[in-house]
Amino acid sequence: MPMLDTFRPESGSLPTRDAIPTRYKWDLTSICTNWDEWSRTYATLDSAINAFAALQGTLAQGPEPLLAAFQAMDAMGELAYRVWYFASLQYDEDQRSNDVNARRQQVQILFARQQQASSWFNPELLSIPLDTVRAWLEANATLGTYRFAVESLFHEQEHVLDEAGERLMSFAGRFNSVPYDSYSALTTADAKHPSLTLSDGRALTLTYGHYRALLETNPNQVDRAAAYRLFHQTFSDNQNTYAALYNGVLQRDWFHARARGYATTLDAALHGNNIPTSVVENLIEVTKQGVEPLRRYHRLRRRVLGGDTYRLFDVFVPLVAHTAQYPYDEVGGWIVDSVAPLGAEYQQQVRRAFDGRWIDVFENQGKRSGAYSAPVYGAHPYMLLNYNETLDAVFTLAHEMGHSMHTLLSHQAQPFVYAGYTIFVAEVPSTLNEALFLDLMLDRAKSREERIVLLQHAIDSIAGTFYTQVLFADFELQAHRLVEQDQPVTAESLNTIYAGLLDAYYGDVIDREEVSRVTWARIPHFFSTPYYVYQYATCFASTARLMQGVRSTAPGERADAVARYLNLLKAGGSDYPMNLLSLAGVDLSQPDTVRAVSTELDTLVARLERELQ
Ligand SMILES: [Zn+2]
Repeated sequence: MPMLDTFRPESGSLPTRDAIPTRYKWDLTSICTNWDEWSRTYATLDSAINAFAALQGTLAQGPEPLLAAFQAMDAMGELAYRVWYFASLQYDEDQRSNDVNARRQQVQILFARQQQASSWFNPELLSIPLDTVRAWLEANATLGTYRFAVESLFHEQEHVLDEAGERLMSFAGRFNSVPYDSYSALTTADAKHPSLTLSDGRALTLTYGHYRALLETNPNQVDRAAAYRLFHQTFSDNQNTYAALYNGVLQRDWFHARARGYATTLDAALHGNNIPTSVVENLIEVTKQGVEPLRRYHRLRRRVLGGDTYRLFDVFVPLVAHTAQYPYDEVGGWIVDSVAPLGAEYQQQVRRAFDGRWIDVFENQGKRSGAYSAPVYGAHPYMLLNYNETLDAVFTLAHEMGHSMHTLLSHQAQPFVYAGYTIFVAEVPSTLNEALFLDLMLDRAKSREERIVLLQHAIDSIAGTFYTQVLFADFELQAHRLVEQDQPVTAESLNTIYAGLLDAYYGDVIDREEVSRVTWARIPHFFSTPYYVYQYATCFASTARLMQGVRSTAPGERADAVARYLNLLKAGGSDYPMNLLSLAGVDLSQPDTVRAVSTELDTLVARLERELQ
């Protein structure tokens, strides 16, 4: 018998929020029961900020005053979570609400004041000799909790300059965003999106969104080729300008590295998280040696698609026509089932997320797009979805649930100061949950077509999240080395690096296309956040490595791997990422860890080959 309050989204119509039954909407009362309580919490935070400012000048007096300041800072932080998320989650329910938006902005203003009122803390702590602080951490057990926070602050300090030097750096800081701002202006604000006429006569404005959708869905190679060439042509036409802007990024990074006494730009980028450069170098080298399964996949695609040529615009189209719908009410149970390998307790927590209304499921008028997991300290994680019953939506749910369980376990096990975790480990639990979910879906698939779609989904995600990101990291490293070695940076030198990487990855499995050389110009990450994307790949490699243990058929080995993995989640941000990962038995400086991905890919491609025979 169907439940009375069942709901399924209909395409083409967007419900009001009221039309969606309550059980599909998150329950924010775990944060604040109502706006009155929120106002009181806001006022408490306001006074906590003032109280904290009054502690300025006390830190050097000894361990007790330092401890008091740390605790006051934590108290502020805890209140800040609740004050922020109660307003911002409600804003995301319907972004047209001016009332809620006003409250959200009120919090932002308070946060700016909080930042000002606490800006004295780090410099004052850093002015105490490290040996003195270490002796205090030894002497006072409660203060000892803050050891890693203190050590990492002093570690960051290693490359801070004297006052005159920092003053000069702060003046130069105003130029930092110029290359990326110019890049954005050129690619968005001032961009003239070309118009493309498809083979059926329809005209299309070629924005990035339309371009991607066309490559992923249009079965006509002629249309895909035309879209690809036209899209890249706009970058090729401006390639000298893009090269000059990218040179600005590279020169800026090299200036910062040298001014702060780092040997290379990579050293500078990795210092904060204390990651050895060998991790990135190992990632790049081992991945390049492990491209065979990727080529095997593309050879298979070339054969199945059956055209005379196979190019970069042919790599995303589906191999079979199959669209299944996945109603939310069924999928919830599958997600719970899929995490069984992680133990009954973990499974119970996932069930709580569904039963306790931690999830805002469906799209409604005014709701924020996309999906996220919000780590609300003092309550529990909340997830926002725009669930539309597609396979992508199901995997997004599995992904966000992974983030949420990480948050939950970390918040339960860690003191506030270490409750948050860095991006370097953040995508491990989310991708691991996706991997578990894929295993379950493949077991339960009802048809050959469904298995093919699932395998393609998994393989494309390894290709896109791992191989492509490592190729990007390789490009960034080679480009930065140009300036480090006083080599000229021109469109031609960048095109040559990129073309060389395409060859190294795809060989002759994908037919060459001249305009692909300029692809670097359309990757915003290169211009906005250098040396960032490799972290997706290291997370992916860690997950592949962990899954080898979780899937192990030897019970002792499996139980061991699961226990170590859960320890990683519980460890939150209590140490540097490399140390945390080693808790889980993952060593990213080892070739075997990175090789776990190509092994995994090879297994999936072999399976896909059998299905497509
Ligand atoms: Zn994620």
